[in-house]
Order: sequence, then structure tokens, then C-alpha cells
Amino acid sequence: MKKYQIAVLAGDYIGPEIMSAGLRVLKAVSEDSDFEYELRKLLFGGAAIDEVGEPLPQNTLTTCKNSDAILLAAIGGPKWDHALKRPEEGLLAIRKELGLFSNIRPTKIDRSMISYSPIEVTDSVDFVIVRELTSGIYFGKPSELTENDAFDTMRYSAREIRRAAKIAFEMAMKRKKHVTLVDKANVLSTSKLWRRVVKEVANHYPEVTYDTSYVDSAAMKIISTPEQFDVLLTENLFGDILSDEAAQITGSLGTIPSMSIGSSGPALYEPIHGSAPDIAGKEIADPISMIKSIAMMLDNSFDREDLAQEIYSSIYQSINEKNVTPDLGGDRSTTEVTDAIIKNIKESR
Ligand code: ATP
Ligand code: MG
Repeated sequence: MKKYQIAVLAGDYIGPEIMSAGLRVLKAVSEDSDFEYELRKLLFGGAAIDEVGEPLPQNTLTTCKNSDAILLAAIGGPKWDHALKRPEEGLLAIRKELGLFSNIRPTKIDRSMISYSPIEVTDSVDFVIVRELTSGIYFGKPSELTENDAFDTMRYSAREIRRAAKIAFEMAMKRKKHVTLVDKANVLSTSKLWRRVVKEVANHYPEVTYDTSYVDSAAMKIISTPEQFDVLLTENLFGDILSDEAAQITGSLGTIPSMSIGSSGPALYEPIHGSAPDIAGKEIADPISMIKSIAMMLDNSFDREDLAQEIYSSIYQSINEKNVTPDLGGDRSTTEVTDAIIKNIKESR
């Protein structure tokens, strides 16, 4: 049996709190299974700036590259507002160095979560957003700001679109076999190129139904009829906005994981939220986002859907039992919620 190497970047503020919760669950679910792993705890973000003056030390990067998967909790916060280097620079650098060109965020409403949603939803809401992460208007050149004039450039190559599209269609094959490209092809040239390239990729996946939606309409449908989606594929800026919108309909930021993947090399798994400085040290951070990130890792990097499912069911069971932190209206601590999830894992065996 292979022993998997997992890089662990706990980060700042609530980062280490939710990471240790997540690692306790990983340990519990691996016990009595044939899943073997080794953790490599590494400096990253603000903690790394404090220790060595760099958000992404060379040793952290090299070890991440040589690992089978990377777990990241959260970095940054007010402590480094005026520091010479910013923790977030580390995040951009690691994505670039590892070629993590797509970010995947699930929006799934389990029955236990329905009452937490701010909108009327059913438990058939289950979609993922595949967001292109390393190109588009955030990176396009030229970009300029002067006193009375400014511009940015939205630029995509067919190659960048094709590799993101392949990830979306591969995901769809393992899910409900439906891909929706979100764009603004009635206005933008880049969107017209997306349509052309994604259509070509779609032709290689005859089992997957494929359609398109303008971003304004997609934003509306995420609220009005989110059940209709399976995989939403979109460019960087639209994906940034839509994935925060999609997060809201599940109830709490503190429950949502994500993964970032490239063509080869390790994937990176992290909660979608930041380091939540306002609640750090209070033992009330919701650990579910981190625990679900670990489940995503087991499923996607290690092909252990069985272990991932055990984690998901144990989480939903503990939500049903009202073992939840204040963000979900409960009064349990981070440790109590984690204990409850571990107990459910053990009892279901
Ligand atoms: P970033 O810019 O790094 O994304 P942000 O400014 O968006 O950070 P977050 O750190 O994501 O802010 O926090 C936003 C709000 O959500 C805060 O009030 C925070 O306390 C809350 N929050 C975030 N994560 C959790 C969690 N795991 N449990 C409970 N509350 C959380
Ligand atoms: Mg944020």
C-alpha cells in the first residue's frame, strides 16, 4: 500500500484551529482502513513571514511540489497589513508555481442544511463551479491606471480555455453529466472564443449534455432555480463573483471547501473563507469547511470516495443533532463539533 505524503499549511488566525480539527478527522477516518499517509507541516503565509520573512519559503514550495496533495487552512489578517510582504502573495505564488489553473467549489445542500439557507431550496441543489484561476482580466496586459483614465485587459488563449474545459467535463462524467458554460458571448470577444473552444471539447464527451448561459442570467438562476445546475464552467472574474454568490445559498461560509487543480502535480484543498481574525482564539470557528476539504482530497486525489462519504454523512448527522458552531446558530465549540463528527464516524463502523 502506498503511503501518501500530504503537505499541511495551517496558516494564520483560525487557520491552525480548523486545520487541527480537520487532521483529527483524517486520523479517525483512516484508522482501521488501509489508507496510509504522512503529514508534512510547513510554514506558509503570515506565520512564514514572521519566521523567515517570506510568505512562501523555498522549502515549503519544494515540499509541496513533491507531495501527493496539499491542505491549506487560511492565511493573512490585520497583523501583516503593514508588513513588507503580504501573506496573500504566497497564495498567488503557490498557485502559479504548481500550475493550479482551475478552482472548484461545490454547492451542495444536504437535507440537514435546508433550514440554514437564506433562500428556499431543496436537497437536490448539488452543483460545482469550475473557475479558471490563472488568466483573464486579473492577469491580462496591458493594464494601466492614471489620474483620469484606466483600463484592464481580458485575455484568454485557446489552450487556457481547453484545459479548464477538460476539467469541467471530466468532473461532469463523475456527476450528473451536465456542463453549463457561463459567459457574456453577446458582448465579449473572449467569451466568443470560450464558446468555440468549449464546444470542441464538448464534442469529445457525447454523454455529457452541454449548454451555455449568460453570466447575468446564471447569477439569477443560482438563486431562483439552483437545482438545474451540475457543473458550471467559467472564466476567472465571473467565477470569483458567482462562487461567492453560490456559497451564500448554503447558509455559512464556514462550511464550504474547495480544490485547486492543474494538469499534473498535487492538488490543493482549502476552505473558501479567509482566516477570520474576528473569531480567532475563541474556539468557535466552524471546522466543517476544513473537514470537507479533507474529504474532497480523499475523493479526488486518492480515489477514496468511501472515506469521503463517511466524513460527509458524519458531518450531516452532527448538523442534524444540532452540534454546530455559532455561524450555524449553535453554541458548540470547534472541538465539540469535531468530537461529534469523529464519534459519528466511529459509530457508523
Ligand atoms: P479573505 O479576504 O481572506 O477571503 P474575508 O475578509 O473575506 O477574508 P473571512 O476571513 O472569510 O473574511 O471572514 C468573513 C466572515 O466570515 C468573518 O466574520 C468570519 O468570522 C466569518 N467566518 C469565516 N470563516 C469562518 C468559519 N470557519 N467559522 C465561522 N465563521 C467564519
Ligand atoms: Mg473573502
